[in-house]
Amino acid sequence: MPLVGAPARGFGTGFDLAPKPMKVVLNWGRKYSLWVFNFGLACCAIEFIAASMARHDFIRLGVIPFAPGPRQADLMVVSGTVSDKMAPAVKRLYEQMPEPKYVISFGACANCGGPYWDSYAVTKGIDQVIPVDVYVPGCPPRPEALLQGIIRLQEKIAAEGTGSTGSLRRVPDALAGAEGGG
Ligand code: SF4
Repeated sequence: MPLVGAPARGFGTGFDLAPKPMKVVLNWGRKYSLWVFNFGLACCAIEFIAASMARHDFIRLGVIPFAPGPRQADLMVVSGTVSDKMAPAVKRLYEQMPEPKYVISFGACANCGGPYWDSYAVTKGIDQVIPVDVYVPGCPPRPEALLQGIIRLQEKIAAEGTGSTGSLRRVPDALAGAEGGG
């Protein structure tokens, strides 16, 4: 099951001062218009691509493929093995994304180094470089696991600035039944 990571980050004074009903509306818009920037680094990226295709179709969850670059993106999905040499590039592109921005760490390599946990050349988790909102486990995770991770992220976005801790509502049966791989 995907794990929720870093706490919410800055959203600007306008959002912070907005009344709660306005925040609810803004959050609703944000969670269903996530322009995604895929940082595909290894085999997990193939599962990400599968999740974007017709069978799994993450567009129906409000994730829009693909932002032309980090400056147009709301969501970065880091999928694959992050080498120490690549990590600064990931950080640099993350910093180019406008706030509010979100990160899903997709797969064991991005979460903790995966099979390369003892390699001298691999970063042991992208959260050592940038803040992560949701971790999706697996080697590789199935596309359905990414869908579940997206739903977890949307719950987190919906709760931002509202004083709610977010409802960890049950994953729809159609997704839960298809889980299990990875
Ligand atoms: Fe490949 Fe497994 Fe690493 Fe994903 S977690 S990039 S499938 S080795």
